[in-house]
Amino acid sequence: MAIERTLSIIKPDATRRNITGKISAAFEAAGLRIVAQKRLRLSLERAQAFYAVHEERPFYADLCAFMSSGPVVAQVLEGEGAVARNREVMGATNPADAAPGTIRAEHAESIEANSVHGSDAPETAATEIAFFFEDDEIVG
Ligand code: ATP
Ligand code: MG
Repeated sequence: MAIERTLSIIKPDATRRNITGKISAAFEAAGLRIVAQKRLRLSLERAQAFYAVHEERPFYADLCAFMSSGPVVAQVLEGEGAVARNREVMGATNPADAAPGTIRAEHAESIEANSVHGSDAPETAATEIAFFFEDDEIVG
């Protein structure tokens, strides 16, 4: 499998509980390298833009309010099949369905406050990485 990059976001529920290091350690233990990272706070408008794909979903307004409610840590993860690998480590969207040992099973508070975001395909990863990072901020 090819070396890929994917976008990760450690969400406000996780920064609030001071578990960004635990989550990053899970990525590294899974063979993913953090090749870019920044802590920032999304404005409501930036959160709405990031999640525009979910605009029609009933949870969109709440999700955008949540994602702008506190700091997040945006990361670029690099490794073999990084998109799928990251999603394995994250676990299912709803922590009730997430496999034991996954980040969401261990740490998520709810289906919304589920601690991490990960790109769902290489094409979306490229767009999402560019949403947060300039090329020269990514150092593999
Ligand atoms: P992410 O895109 O954050 O990596 P995902 O791909 O597992 O998560 P999506 O279907 O893309 O899930 O939903 C994006 C985010 O919207 C979820 O991570 C979660 O925070 C929120 N969300 C999804 N479904 C629901 C729901 N039914 N109720 C409330 N929030 C939801
Ligand atoms: Mg998604």
